[in-house]
Amino acid sequence: MATIGFIGLGNMGTGMATNLIKAGHAVQAFDVADAALSRAAEMGATRAASVTAAVSQVDAVISMLQTGEQVRSVYEGEVFGAVQHSCILIDCSTIDVATARVVGEAAAARGIDMVDAPVSGGVAGAIAATLTFMVGGTAQSYVKAQPILANMGKTVIHAGPAGSGQAAKICNNMLLGASMIATAETFNLAIKLGLDPQVFFDISSKASGQCWSMTSYCPVPGPVPSAPSNRNYDGGFMTALMLKDLKLAMAAAQAAETSVPMGALAESLYQNFANLGGAPKDFSAIIKFLDGGWQKPD
Ligand code: NAD
Repeated sequence: MATIGFIGLGNMGTGMATNLIKAGHAVQAFDVADAALSRAAEMGATRAASVTAAVSQVDAVISMLQTGEQVRSVYEGEVFGAVQHSCILIDCSTIDVATARVVGEAAAARGIDMVDAPVSGGVAGAIAATLTFMVGGTAQSYVKAQPILANMGKTVIHAGPAGSGQAAKICNNMLLGASMIATAETFNLAIKLGLDPQVFFDISSKASGQCWSMTSYCPVPGPVPSAPSNRNYDGGFMTALMLKDLKLAMAAAQAAETSVPMGALAESLYQNFANLGGAPKDFSAIIKFLDGGWQKPD
C-alpha cells in the first residue's frame, strides 16, 4: 500500500482521501483551512503542517484545489522541491488547459511523472468512489496514476499528453451546459404548447432529442425522480461550478482560435443566472431563469 500526500481537503478532496484510506493507503493531508484538515483527520488521515511536510517521502501526491493559480503555486512553490523523484504527482483540480500543460511540463523537466486528472461525478461520486477521471500525461505517468485513481472512481481514461484531461473535462462540460439550456427551453415551450411535461419526456427521451440533461437531470420535476429539480434544485452540480467550467472553455477556445457560439451563449446565460442569485442552485435551475419564474433571493 502507498503513502500519499493529499493537498486540498474540501468538498471533493475529503471523500476522495477517505476512499484512499479505506483502500489501505496512508494519507498525509494538508489544507490551508484548519476545519478541512480536522475533518480529514477524523477520517483517518495524518495532519501535515505544510504542503512540504505532506509530500516529503510519499509515493504519490494528489491535489484537489480550486484554481490554476493555486495549483501552480503549490507545485512550483513547494511540491517539486520536496518530493522523491520516483513519486507520481496527480492534480485532480479542474483548471485551465494552459496551466495544466505548464505545470506538467515543469514536472517533466525535473524528471518527475505528473498527470492532470480532473473528475466528473461531483461530491456524491467522490464519497461513493464512482468518479470518472480524465487523465493527461505520458503513458508511463498514466500507468503509475491509474491504480491509485481506481481507488476513488469507477472509470479512469487516458485522454492524451499533459493538459488533455483538462481539455476533455471542459469540452464535455461545455456540451453539457449548452445541452441543459436547450433541454430547459424546450420543456418551457412544450408546456406553453399545452403538452404534459411527463408525456413530452416519454416521447423525446425515446426520440432523437434524447440527451443526458433530459434523462438524468431533467429540469422539470417529475419525470426523473432523482433529478435536482425534485429538490428545489438543491444539491447536484452547482451553477457556480458550471460557470467556472464554461469560463475555462471560453479561455481555451480563445487560445485555440476556435468559434464556440453555443458555448459562449451558455456562459453568458449562466453568468446572468448566477448574478441573479442562482449560483448555489443546480445548473438545471436555469429553466426558472428562462421561463421568467426565477425569484432572486433576498
Ligand atoms: P473546495 O473549495 O471545497 O475545496 C478546495 C480546498 O482547497 C479547500 O479546502 C481550500 O481550503 C483548499 N486550498 C486552497 N488553496 C490551498 C493551498 N494553497 N494549499 C492547501 N489547500 C488549499 O472545492 P471542491 O468543491 O472540493 O472542488 C475542488 C476542485 O474540483 C475544483 O477545481 C472544482 O472545480 C473541481 N470539481 C468540483 C466538483 C464538485 O461537485 N464540487 C465536481 C467536479 C470537479
